[in-house]
Amino acid sequence: MSNNKKNSQQGVRLKSEEDIKKLRVAGSRLAIIMKEVSDHVKPGISTAELDKIFYELIIKGGDTPALLNYQPYGADYPYPATVCISINDEVVHGIPDDNRIIKEGDIVKLDSCLSHEGMIADHAVTLAVGEITEQEKKLIEVTKEARSVGIRAVKVGGYVSDISKAIEEYIMSQGDYGIVRILSGHGVGYAVHEEPFVPNYDDGMKGPKLVPGMVLAIEPMVNLGSDDCELCADGYTFVTEDGQKSAHFEHTVVITEKGVEIITA
Ligand code: MG
Repeated sequence: MSNNKKNSQQGVRLKSEEDIKKLRVAGSRLAIIMKEVSDHVKPGISTAELDKIFYELIIKGGDTPALLNYQPYGADYPYPATVCISINDEVVHGIPDDNRIIKEGDIVKLDSCLSHEGMIADHAVTLAVGEITEQEKKLIEVTKEARSVGIRAVKVGGYVSDISKAIEEYIMSQGDYGIVRILSGHGVGYAVHEEPFVPNYDDGMKGPKLVPGMVLAIEPMVNLGSDDCELCADGYTFVTEDGQKSAHFEHTVVITEKGVEIITA
């Protein structure tokens, strides 16, 4: 789940070795479930059905769906599902619905958080349903690679802005894409959203220093059109203002003495 820039912050909370062990379990379980649910994303299934599968797989593993009933700062009501499912021009935080049916040619984004013994991992993927255009395929590839570029920019002793700048530079080098600015990556672990913000563009702030024990959700959101997004009446779903399609990929990473470790791979 992406962080809204209006959210309150309580300072960066570093994780212990014990916490990181639990996070590794949370991340690998979430990645396995994400893959399994992704295989169900086909024409004819409703987003509510996909949500149910996601929920049951988390519960079966003895873990907790961390988004279900999570209320981000500023939201009017708790998030009512296990996974955010956003289609086409929906950028993030789409709410699963019985009447929302996956169709051929859709671009579907799944984004969820899993809590294992109180430690939370966050992960998102973008999927193409059947045939999509070459332009849409490239959008998805660029967004996925932007995440990798961001992760490679994580260096102990560097700053959060190194990640932001690397992501922005890479996306801009690939074409005339919109980079979502009103939402960002974030710290994660004890809660779904923690400090610091991890913007996907250079916002002029250096941000906190990258140190061992820091856990970050790195999640570029890229549009075919402009940067601009708006919040829908449901209070959760963000859509592109110009109606163009959007893609999103997210990994949770842990910074250790040795460097960076992706826990949701
Ligand atoms: Mg997130």
